[in-house]
Amino acid sequence: MARVVQLWKRQGQSIGFVPTMGALHAGHLSLIQKARRENQRVVVSIFVNPTQFGPKEDFRKYPRPWQRDQKLCQKALVHALYRPHAKHMYPQGFLTFVEVSRLSNKLCGQFRPGHFRGVATIVLKLLEQVRPQRAYFGEKDFQQLVIIRCMVQDLNLPVTVIGCPTVREADGLALSSRNVYLNPQQRSKAVHLYRGLKAGALVARKHGSKVTHVLSQMHKEVRKIPGVRMDYLKVVNPKTLEDAKHLQGPLRLVGAIRIGKTRLIDNVAIFC
Ligand code: AMP
Repeated sequence: MARVVQLWKRQGQSIGFVPTMGALHAGHLSLIQKARRENQRVVVSIFVNPTQFGPKEDFRKYPRPWQRDQKLCQKALVHALYRPHAKHMYPQGFLTFVEVSRLSNKLCGQFRPGHFRGVATIVLKLLEQVRPQRAYFGEKDFQQLVIIRCMVQDLNLPVTVIGCPTVREADGLALSSRNVYLNPQQRSKAVHLYRGLKAGALVARKHGSKVTHVLSQMHKEVRKIPGVRMDYLKVVNPKTLEDAKHLQGPLRLVGAIRIGKTRLIDNVAIFC
C-alpha cells in the first residue's frame, strides 16, 4: 500500500481515503463517492479491527462479505482496496496504543471500554500507511468523528478529516453493517431511535424549550419500543461531547440503544 501511494504521490496525484470494516452499504458508498469527487485517487480499506471490540462483542460474527465488497468497490471505481492482515497490523509484541482521553470515555465509551482506543490506534496506523490528503468519516459514528478530528489536530497529522452526512433507509433508520443482525420484528423497532431523536429536535425548536424537555421527549419516544434497552440519550456539545446545559448554538442529539443483542447508535444535529 505504501509503495502504491508513494508512486501516486510522485505523480502529484491527490489521495482520498475511506477506512471501513467492510460489509459495505450505501453509507460507505456515499463516502467513497465524495472521495472520488474530491481526489484523483481513492483508497478504501477493509479491516475488522479486533482491538475495538470488547471481549463479549461481535468481532467473530461481524459480517465479512469480501467478494461482494470487492465488487462494490470495483463498481464505485475505487483505485485501491486495502485489506491488511491482523497479523501485520498487530504483530506479536504489539504494545502501542493511542488514547484520545476525555472524549473517549463519554457516551459509547462508557459502554464499550477501550473501543475508541482501538479505533484511534487503527486509524492512526492506516493514515500512516496510506498518507492521504483527505480522509472521510461518517457522521453516523459521531463520537468517532470527533475523536479522529481531535487526534489529527493533536498529533499534527497532515490530513484533512471530512465528515459526511448519515445515509438512511427510506423510513429513517441509519444504514449500518450491523442492521443485518435485526430480524423483521426488531428491524421495525429499530427506526424508533431516529424517531426519538427527531422528536427531540422538534421540541428543541419550540420557543422556550429547555434541555430537560428535549430529553424527556426523546426518552418518551424510545421507551415506546418493546424490549428496548437504552444505553444513553443525550443532548451534547458537538465539540466537547459534554452534556448541554442550555439549548444554545450547535448541539447534537445522540443516542445508543440495544434491541435484542444488537446495539444501534444514531444522532441528529440541531441549531438553537
Ligand atoms: P464501519 O465500516 O462501520 O467502520 O464504517 C466505516 C465508515 O463509514 C465510518 O466513517 C462510518 O461512520 C461510515 N458510515 C457507516 N454508516 C454510515 C451511514 N449510514 N452513513 C454515512 N456514513 C456511514
